[in-house]
Amino acid sequence: MYDALTGRYTFACPRRGNARVTLSGFRRLERLPGAAHPAVYRVSFHCTCGEEHPGLVSHDELDWAPHGLGDGRFLNLMTTRLDTVAAEFGPLAAGRIAAGEWPWSFFCYPEERPRPVSPSSFVVLAPGDGALGLAVRCPVCGALSVNLVSPTHVDLPWHHDREVGVVLHVFGGDADAIVGAFRAELHSARFDARRLALE
Ligand SMILES: [Zn+2]
Ligand SMILES: [Zn+2]
Repeated sequence: MYDALTGRYTFACPRRGNARVTLSGFRRLERLPGAAHPAVYRVSFHCTCGEEHPGLVSHDELDWAPHGLGDGRFLNLMTTRLDTVAAEFGPLAAGRIAAGEWPWSFFCYPEERPRPVSPSSFVVLAPGDGALGLAVRCPVCGALSVNLVSPTHVDLPWHHDREVGVVLHVFGGDADAIVGAFRAELHSARFDARRLALE
């Protein structure tokens, strides 16, 4: 259901049958209680039909498939053979991670530092004016930070915005409270620029 070549997830759309969306088309993510192996996330996504729909994504598909470690085949133009995507991208991804490069990052406001992160730590995504408001639950300190990033920062593993906007506000409460506060902050334009270089 994730295609590493186009970077799109396939979900069901009640109007058109299928919807293919990038990560930046997600709007909310929530880990379902219970299922642990693999963990399953309930997401809502913005569909090309114009509506938001719910969908389910496994942890593997969320965090590992975008590295090219999922299923899928592509035509290798050097050998004119069908190769698995994982065979081509897997070693590349593994090498970069071993070298300390991580596919996604965000700026943790309470810790005042950039942190590596995976999509399963994304909580809310809200588009506006070409940028994307991204609420992230920090995997280290557990606090929620809101960054203003480019859609590419989310959609393209290993593409990091050099600078992101950071909301100077610590978010708390449940998901609905966070979404409400988050929307209010997004429109208040109280963002500070922070560099995203991971040391
Ligand atoms: Zn739809
Ligand atoms: Zn943190």
